[in-house]
Amino acid sequence: MPGTTRQEMLSWLDATLQPDKFKDYAPNGLQVQGRAQIRKVITGVTASKALVDAAITHNADAILVHHGWFWGNESRTICGNRHARIKALLAADINLFAYHLPLDAHPVLGNNAQLAKLMGWQPQRHSDGSPVLCGPHDLVWLGQPSAPCTLAQLGQQLEHSLGRPSLVLGDATQSIQRLAWCTGGAQDFVQAAIDASVDCYITGEVSEPNLHLAQESGCSFISAGHHATERYGVQALGQALAQHFGIECSFVDLYNPA
Ligand SMILES: [Zn+2]
Repeated sequence: MPGTTRQEMLSWLDATLQPDKFKDYAPNGLQVQGRAQIRKVITGVTASKALVDAAITHNADAILVHHGWFWGNESRTICGNRHARIKALLAADINLFAYHLPLDAHPVLGNNAQLAKLMGWQPQRHSDGSPVLCGPHDLVWLGQPSAPCTLAQLGQQLEHSLGRPSLVLGDATQSIQRLAWCTGGAQDFVQAAIDASVDCYITGEVSEPNLHLAQESGCSFISAGHHATERYGVQALGQALAQHFGIECSFVDLYNPA
C-alpha cells in the first residue's frame, strides 16, 4: 500500500527543517495527531477553518502549514473559533503539521529562499554557498534584483508575480541595486536592512513608522502582502515531501489580501 506514516512524515520534516534550532512563538512539528497512515497531504499558508474544511473535502490525511495553532499570546482555552477548528480536525482524524520560523529560514525550501527564486533575485552568499543573513532570528536576506531597476519597477514586478497590489514607500525613481527582504509580518526588522545600506527592504506587512524610516534613511520599503509572500515555502516543502514519500500533496491557496 503506498504512502507513509505520521511518524515517518514527522521525522522527515524535522530532519529537513531542524526546528530545535529555533526559539519560536508556537510549537513546530505535529500540532494535532490524526490517523497513522498518510497518503494525501494538503498544504496551505494558515490552518484556518476554511483550510481544515478543504482538507476534509479533499479526503486528506494531513495538513501542513506555515501558520499553525497554539501561538504563545493566544488564549489557552478551546472555545469559539478555536473550538470549531479543533473539533472539525479531530472529528476528521486529520493530522496538523506546522512549521513557522524553520520554514521562513530554510536555505532552499524556505519562504525567503523561494520568494527570491520566484522574483529572480540573487541572494548574497558566503563562500560555502549559504545565504548572508542579518536581523532578528537571522531571518533577513540580502541580495540583488534580477536586473537593476527603479523602485517603481520593483513594485510592479512584485505586483505582477504575486498577483496583488504592493504598497511602495520611497522615491519611485530611485535606482535599486541592493535589496533586503523577509517574508510575512517583518516590518519591524527594517533596521537590519537600513544597517546593511541596501536600497530597498521588502516584506509582507507595513506599520505607520515605515513611511518615515523610508524617507529619512534612503532605504525604500515595499509591503507586498503577508499571505502573498509566504505562499511559496510551504509549496516547495510539500513538493519535496511528495517526492520523498511518493504521496499526493496539493497546495490550497485561500485568498487573503492581508
Ligand atoms: Zn507569517
